[in-house]
Amino acid sequence: MALNKSQGNMYEFVTHTWNTVKGTCPHDCGYCYMKGIAKRFNKPQSPIHFDESELKTNLGSGKFIFVGSSNDLFAENIPEEWILKTLKHCEKYDNKYLFQTKNPTRILDYIDTCVISDKSVVCTTIETNRYYRNIMKNSPLMNNRADAMNIISEVVKTFVTIEPVMDFDLPEFIELIKKANPMQVNIGSDSGHNHLPEPPKEEILALIAELEKFTVVKQKSNLSRLLK
Ligand code: SF4
Repeated sequence: MALNKSQGNMYEFVTHTWNTVKGTCPHDCGYCYMKGIAKRFNKPQSPIHFDESELKTNLGSGKFIFVGSSNDLFAENIPEEWILKTLKHCEKYDNKYLFQTKNPTRILDYIDTCVISDKSVVCTTIETNRYYRNIMKNSPLMNNRADAMNIISEVVKTFVTIEPVMDFDLPEFIELIKKANPMQVNIGSDSGHNHLPEPPKEEILALIAELEKFTVVKQKSNLSRLLK
């Protein structure tokens, strides 16, 4: 069991990460860093499971904890019991929590729990407006992510993360992000050498300029590779 200090290419506002659901994530994204780690150490990922021992973790206070940083706690086939146990444990401690999912439609089922409504930021990843099926595999369509975030944003602070940014169509992409209605957009690039279709510098700068017209934009440190 562990509350891990945030490190590597994490959000600057996140102080710690904590994971109750472990193993192979159902979304199976081609660029998943957890898959990358398993490959690097030549170790297959374990089947998805709930780690009960994590419920003994003292989450402390005054932290900003990314809950479920190594999986997707709200993926469609995650048992409700796993989600509820995780949220109830968070509720016992006085922290802020980041819940990030590619399936924010499922967050709608839990939006009234006090830990989500009072203490949290809900975030979804929207890497591009284009659906690259061979890369995104089982992840929900971006339009569905944006629709759900639009509803969630009426109740909770919300972010969108464009990472790893992939080739996009600017007007359509901007419309999608506007629909999601985030208070903040974080942009980052692929850190795992996954040979993704990446936009040129000029298009990324144009994207940032358009986003800044209606939201706060934070560039993650790994974006600098594409802005040289
Ligand atoms: S949703 Fe996140 S954890 Fe799941 S496969 Fe995709 S990148 Fe990995």
